[in-house]
Amino acid sequence: MAVMKFGGTSIGTATAMKRAMEIVAAEGNKSVPVVVLSACSGITNKLIRIAEEAGGSRLEKAMELSGEVREHHRGLVDTLINDEARRKSVLEKVEAYIGELEMLIKGVDIVGELTVRSFDTFCSFGELLSTTVFSAAMHEAGHETAWLDMREIMITDDNFSMARPLEEICENNVKKTIKPLLDEGRMVVTQGFIGSTKDGKTTTLGRGGSDFTAALLGAWLPSDVIQIWTDVDGVMTCDPRIVPDARSIRVMTFTEAAELSYLGAKVLHPDTIAPAVKQNIPVYVLNSLHPEAKGTVITNNPVMLEGMSYGGLVKSIAVKKGQRIINFRSNRMLGRHGFMARIFEVFAHAGVSVEMISTSEVSVSLTVSESAVLGDLLVELRKIGEVEIEPNVATISVVGDNLRTSKGVAGRIFSAMKDVNIRMISQGASEINVGMVVEGDDVPKALQSLHHEFFSGTETNGIFETPANKK
Ligand code: ADP
Ligand code: ASP
Ligand code: MG
Repeated sequence: MAVMKFGGTSIGTATAMKRAMEIVAAEGNKSVPVVVLSACSGITNKLIRIAEEAGGSRLEKAMELSGEVREHHRGLVDTLINDEARRKSVLEKVEAYIGELEMLIKGVDIVGELTVRSFDTFCSFGELLSTTVFSAAMHEAGHETAWLDMREIMITDDNFSMARPLEEICENNVKKTIKPLLDEGRMVVTQGFIGSTKDGKTTTLGRGGSDFTAALLGAWLPSDVIQIWTDVDGVMTCDPRIVPDARSIRVMTFTEAAELSYLGAKVLHPDTIAPAVKQNIPVYVLNSLHPEAKGTVITNNPVMLEGMSYGGLVKSIAVKKGQRIINFRSNRMLGRHGFMARIFEVFAHAGVSVEMISTSEVSVSLTVSESAVLGDLLVELRKIGEVEIEPNVATISVVGDNLRTSKGVAGRIFSAMKDVNIRMISQGASEINVGMVVEGDDVPKALQSLHHEFFSGTETNGIFETPANKK
C-alpha cells in the first residue's frame, strides 16, 4: 500500500482538490492508501499572520484574516459537495474550527502575548480544515474514507514549532489505529505537519513538515511506497523557479536526496528521507498537475537504480537563501589549540546554528540563517576577536554521488562561476557536495551558469527528463 502526501498547491483550490481526489481514487483501485494532506496553499502563512496580528493586539486584522480562511474553505465545500446534508455537516465542522481559531485569537489578544504553544495551535487549523473538506469530498465521490486527527497518533516532544515524534508511542498508535482501518478496506485521510504532546498540547513539525509526517507513517506501517505529490515533476536539477531549464531527475539515491534537501531544495522536507531509509521504502516525488509524468524515485534498491547508472558528475544544484556570513579573525588562533572549541561554545551558548564553515590559521568564516538572533553572540565573539558580518548571502551546493570519485569538478564549477563573487567555499564532509556562498543578488546568474555547465551536455541523457509542462 501507499502513503500519499499532497502539498498545499495540490489541494489549494477546488480544481486541484478534484485532481488529487482522482489520483487517490486511481491508487485506491490497487490498494487502500493513507492520504496525508498539507494545508491549502497560502493558508499556513495566513494563520501565521493571524497569530502575529493577535499577539500584537490587532484584533480586527486577525479577525478579518480568519474570515478569509473561513471563506476559502466554505468556497471549497460549495464547489465540491452537492449533497445537502453532507454540505451542512461539513460547513458545521469548518465553522467549529474557525470558532476555535477565533476564540484563540481573542484569548491571545487579551493576554497580549503570543506563546510558542499557541503559535502551533494557530498553525494546526490549516491541515485540520483541508483534510475535513477533502474527506467529505471523497465520501461524496463514493469513496469510503476514515478521517483521523493526527494529534492522536503523532505524539511528540514539547519542542513547539520543531517537535519530534516519540517514535515508539507513535508506531504503536499507527498499528492500533490506522492498520485496522486499512485492513477493513477504508482509506485513511489525515493531516501532515501536526502532532501533540503527551498531555494533549498541539505541536507542529516545522515548516514543510507534511512530507516528514508521510515518511514517518510509511515507516511505521510500513507501506510499500511513499508518494510526495507536489506542483513540479519530481526532484529537479535545480529550483525551476530560478532556472527555467531545470530538468526532472528520474532516480536518486537516498543520500543524494537527503543532501539536497538539507542544502535547501524545498521540494522535500529535510527529515523525509531518514524514515524511508530505515525501512528501505522508495519515495516517489510526483506532479499532481501531470500525474502521468514519471517524477522521481528515491531509492537504494539496486534493481531500481539499474539502467539508471549515470556517467555525469552532478545530480542537482540546491540553493539556500537568507543567510549571513560571520567572519571571525584573531591572531591568537595561530598555533593555539582549543580556540575553535571556544568559538563554537559561544555559538552553542547563544543557541545559533552554524551551517557552513571554512577556516584558515587565523580566521573562521561561518554562515548562519538570517533569522538567527545574533545580539549576545556578537558581544561574546568580539571579546575574543574581530567580527564582521556580511548580510544577504546564499549557499549554492552542487550535489551528486559521483562527486566522490570524480576529478575536475572544482575546475568546472569555478569556470562556470567566473563572473560571480564567491564569498566562501566548502567541500562537504559527505564528499557528495561542493558548496559555495555567493551574494544574494548573484543567485540567478550563478545557478543558471552552473546549470548550463553541468546539464546542457549529452552526458545527462537518460536520467533527466524535460518536465511535462515544457514538452
Ligand atoms: P508542496 O506544497 O507540494 O509541499 P513545496 O512548495 O514545499 O511544495 O515544494 C515544491 C517547490 O520546491 C517547487 O514548486 C519548486 O519551486 C521548489 N524547488 C526547489 N528546489 C527544487 C528542486 N531541486 N526540484 C524541484 N523543486 C524544487
Ligand atoms: N502547511 C505546512 C506549511 O506550510 C506544512 C506543509 O505544507 O508541509 O509549512
Ligand atoms: Mg513542501
